Amino acid sequence: MNDTNLIDKHINFIRHQINNDLDSGLHSVIQTRFPPEPNGYLHIGHAKSICLNFNLAQDYKGKCNLRFDDTNPAKEELEFIKSIKNDIKWLGFDWDGDIQYSSNYFPKFYEYAIELINKELAYVCFLNAEETREYRGTLKQTGKDSPYRDTSITENISLLEQMRKGKFSEGECVLRAKIDMTSPFMCMRDPALYRIRFEKHHQTGNEWRIYPMYDFAHCISDAIEGVTHSLCTLEFQDNRRLYDWILEHLDDFNKLNRPHQYEFSRLNLEYTVMSKRKLQQLVEGRLVLGWNDPRLPTISGLRRRGYTPTGIRNFIECIGISKVDSMTDMKILENAVRDDLNIVAQRTMGVIDPIKVIIENYPESQVEIIKAPVHPQNEDMGKRDIFFSKELYIDRADFKEVAPNKKFKRLAIDKEVRLRNAYVINATTFDTDFDGNVVTVYATYDPDTLGKNPEDGRKVKGVIHFVEASKALKAEFRLYDRLFTLENPGKNENFEQLFNPKSLVVTYGVVEPSMQYATPEVAYQFEREGYFCRDNETNDNLVFNKTVALRDAWSS
Ligand code: ATP
Ligand code: MG
Repeated sequence: MNDTNLIDKHINFIRHQINNDLDSGLHSVIQTRFPPEPNGYLHIGHAKSICLNFNLAQDYKGKCNLRFDDTNPAKEELEFIKSIKNDIKWLGFDWDGDIQYSSNYFPKFYEYAIELINKELAYVCFLNAEETREYRGTLKQTGKDSPYRDTSITENISLLEQMRKGKFSEGECVLRAKIDMTSPFMCMRDPALYRIRFEKHHQTGNEWRIYPMYDFAHCISDAIEGVTHSLCTLEFQDNRRLYDWILEHLDDFNKLNRPHQYEFSRLNLEYTVMSKRKLQQLVEGRLVLGWNDPRLPTISGLRRRGYTPTGIRNFIECIGISKVDSMTDMKILENAVRDDLNIVAQRTMGVIDPIKVIIENYPESQVEIIKAPVHPQNEDMGKRDIFFSKELYIDRADFKEVAPNKKFKRLAIDKEVRLRNAYVINATTFDTDFDGNVVTVYATYDPDTLGKNPEDGRKVKGVIHFVEASKALKAEFRLYDRLFTLENPGKNENFEQLFNPKSLVVTYGVVEPSMQYATPEVAYQFEREGYFCRDNETNDNLVFNKTVALRDAWSS
């Protein structure tokens, strides 16, 4: 048994399998891989696969490599490759050895195709798409053999060679495996292994006119790299038969310790979409600002929003690995991020919808410096300077002329409240604008209440936050809501119409001067308001993205 003595809390069916394979001596070291297709940015679903693959390798002292599954010439872009590498590193993982590209194996795939032809296990088929469908049959009806199934080996080799050189047009023929047209598994009814594509490939240019299908390329790539446990999502469950069939019929790989495929359920999150195709539609339709829009479930979007790698990893840990398909509640992700931020985020004050407060009994033109803790539960994080003077900002929601009920613990006329980190104040009167909106509140402060309660025993229950006016910095706040109005928008063909128009609301307010140097992507707790981080794309202005609320807002 492996000495890690596998941490019970993680035990899942994949770990059981690995334990068995190590115990039986089938493998002495395990290897996993993360195989993204570079046709979009990574999303939180990919994070599940990344954590699974890299954590297994780490815990079992094995290896996990990164392979770009770039067998499709049309879609891939270098921008995606760059962002994928960056996102994996940001999540806190690193791949073993060099980055692999399926396209590096194109010559190998070709050799293996020839081997299958030589074993009379593959043939070139000229049925058109419609005929192929007809011959394939249905779940209820077995298929029938293609008339090209018995072409001779030499003829097939020559035909594949011609396909490779571009002698046939796209769609004119394909190379198919010769398996079983009566199989109950559709994927075993002579599946295509190679198809003709005239598109230029970003790594191999125009060298190839044929490209391997996913099922053919994936198992061989795993085998070439020495992967032992090939983990993928449930939709490939049937295809496992083809995975095994291909490797078992190739001399190089037909060994007991060849790779095996295991499936787990995808992560689906409520009120969002996850497929790269759908995300791309949102980006191209300009419904969002780009792949890294903070509303998207992409890793780069979550990063821009202030989510932490630890929060995301804890979330993945918390949902676990199983074979049951389900929708995950966004709250679970938000809780995981909030729990992490509660520990690491520096505290600060910001006013999102400001009104002015004038402290009538405070000396004119005096500005006082107060030392406030950066984190109330962690003294080691030190103190920050905040300021106090005659003019301050508080949030509109924190003042009412008359307290609406006994529970109201904010400022009202003749009702005292403590300003966070500072003094107790009492409102006396206020001004409104033409429309009756409060513009300025006049108040008095009790100079003897800095860091202590009033000496005469007056009880002041409420605490509200504020920002001193002369040093306040103007800031933009971007407040986010669910991206879609329905729980499972992806099910709907016209999912774009379910886009939540209030998914982004912008407000303008003020923040403490210390925020001038706020690091982008690092979340701060704006006390009483929520977690926010400075936007990473708007350097000149202070723009803050709301990461997550202080408490779970959905259930209240
Ligand atoms: P999408 O449908 O979003 O385009 P994909 O499966 O086509 O996803 P790939 O780039 O092929 O994306 O995926 C790389 C790896 O990430 C695969 O092993 C895939 O199974 C895994 N993966 C993708 N989406 C999820 C998800 N929602 N949950 C768990 N794993 C996922
Ligand atoms: Mg894919």
